[in-house]
Amino acid sequence: MTSISDRVQAIRASIQQAEQATGRTAGEVHLLAVSKTKPATAIREAYAAGQLRFGENYVQEALEKMAELADLPLEWHFIGPIQSNKTRPIAENFHWVHGIDRLKIAQRLNDARPGHLPPLNVCIEVNVSGEASKEGVAPGEVVELASTIVQLPRLRLRGLMTIPAPTHDRALQHRQFAMLRELLVSLNQQGFQLDTLSMGMSEDFPAAIAEGATIVRIGSAIFGARPPKSPNTVPDSSMP
Ligand SMILES: *Cc1c(COP(=O)(O)O)cnc(C)c1O
Repeated sequence: MTSISDRVQAIRASIQQAEQATGRTAGEVHLLAVSKTKPATAIREAYAAGQLRFGENYVQEALEKMAELADLPLEWHFIGPIQSNKTRPIAENFHWVHGIDRLKIAQRLNDARPGHLPPLNVCIEVNVSGEASKEGVAPGEVVELASTIVQLPRLRLRGLMTIPAPTHDRALQHRQFAMLRELLVSLNQQGFQLDTLSMGMSEDFPAAIAEGATIVRIGSAIFGARPPKSPNTVPDSSMP
């Protein structure tokens, strides 16, 4: 059985390989280790292998792990769906938020971001697969939301994020990721200064890197499979 440390090293090597194979600059793609549902001890193991950035989906679970790991200089990314009654703990405890798809949520995060912290890094979540996925704004609505978010002083709009419909069709993976890249290019041509494409997970990150990802979010390939979602194990999932 391989250890978490071995798997962190292996994923880093695969990222490097994908960077090289597709003409990306070495070290340009950052690995976000998605540690949702996994214990603090697993995060500590990944940290020992050099991993600093971690992604969490559930606020209460993340806060408990942050407290247990307060001795480590970790960077925390909130990547789950955001309920409006959870914006304060997110704004107070995370460095990044990837899944913004409503102005109301952006405003609440802005209002709750403590003055002693730097502005919260945020990405707009875009739905690149149409009907197949419910979260994220439609590509045609991104400019309007981005224009409003850049006016919020306690947020720093960094770029775009997507969770495409899962598919083993490699050509479709590429098309969906390319759509996000083209949107970012178009925003920057309109005067935005965005540097982040958060796309690619355990099953499809090589395609995402080929299409310009700057952050890949990888969970199961590092920490192993997760238990299936249930209201008992994930207290603040997207339940009503
Ligand atoms: C769980 C999750 C991931 C990681 O998925 P894996 O397939 O385990 O790599 C990435 N991004 C988001 C938004 C997630 O919720």
